[in-house]
Amino acid sequence: MQIQVKPLEEKGETPLRVSQAPAWQANRHAKDVLFDGQYRKAKAKGECPNTKAAVLIDGKGAGSIFYLCQTEKCEVHNRVTRYQPTPQEQAQRKREALAERVEKLSRVRVLEAIRKKLPDVLSRPDLEIVALDYFRRLGHDNHRRLSKLYAWEGKKSKTSWGAETVDYEKIAAPAVQAMNAADVNRFLVVCALASDRYCPGYNPRQSLAKDSNLARTAARYKVDSAKIATTDRADLSSKMQIHRSKPHPGKRSPDASPSRRRGLTGTRRK
Ligand SMILES: [Zn+2]
Repeated sequence: MQIQVKPLEEKGETPLRVSQAPAWQANRHAKDVLFDGQYRKAKAKGECPNTKAAVLIDGKGAGSIFYLCQTEKCEVHNRVTRYQPTPQEQAQRKREALAERVEKLSRVRVLEAIRKKLPDVLSRPDLEIVALDYFRRLGHDNHRRLSKLYAWEGKKSKTSWGAETVDYEKIAAPAVQAMNAADVNRFLVVCALASDRYCPGYNPRQSLAKDSNLARTAARYKVDSAKIATTDRADLSSKMQIHRSKPHPGKRSPDASPSRRRGLTGTRRK
C-alpha cells in the first residue's frame, strides 16, 4: 500500500481511507474511514472541482488509489448515482411489486388446481398442447428439419425488421391438429430425435454417438444406420461429382436411388 500512497503524500495529498466492507458489516466507529454510500466514485482526478484522492484499505483492491467526490449537491456526481424517488414513485413501485407477486402466486395456484384435475389418460387437447409446446421449444433449426421431414409447406413472411422468415409454429399447429392420435404420438418421438440429427459445427464429420437417442432408437427399431450411411456416401459422392460447381443436396432428380427415403435424407449431414 505504501508504494502507491507515497507519491501522493509527497505531493502533500493525504488520500482518504475507504473500506469496501458492506455497510451492515462495517465498523461505523472507524471515524477516518469512508464506507459505501458515503461517497461517489469519480472517474478521474478533477472530474468535478471536489474530487479527492482515496485509498482502499481492504478487500481485493486494497492499496489502490482512486478519486471520489463527497459533495452532496455535486453537479457531476450527485445526479448520476444519488437518485431519490419521490413518495409517489415509491408508492407506485410498491403497488407494482404487489401486483407482480399476486400474479406469480395465482399462476402457481392455477397450475396446481389443473394438476389435480388432470385425467389418467392424455386427452386430445392436452396431447396437442404437449406436442406443440415441445415443438416450440426445439428451436428454429429443428423446426426447419422437422418441417422438411413432414413436407410442411411454409410461406415466407417478412419480419418487422425486414428479414424473410418462416413461422414454423404457425405451420405446425394446424398440422398437428390434423393428425390422428397415433400420428401425434409418433410426432412426439420424432421431435425427441430431431436434435440428434444435428452435427456439431466444431466437428461436423463426427459420427453419431452410440449413446445418442437417435442411435439407440435406430437399434431398437432395427434400422441399419451403417448401411444407410454407406448408401448415402455413394449417393452423395456421385452427386457431388456431377454438380461439383453447385452441390444442392436438398433437391433430387427423379432417378435418385430409392434407398434415400424421405426422413432418412440428411441423417449424416446437418
Ligand atoms: Zn463531484
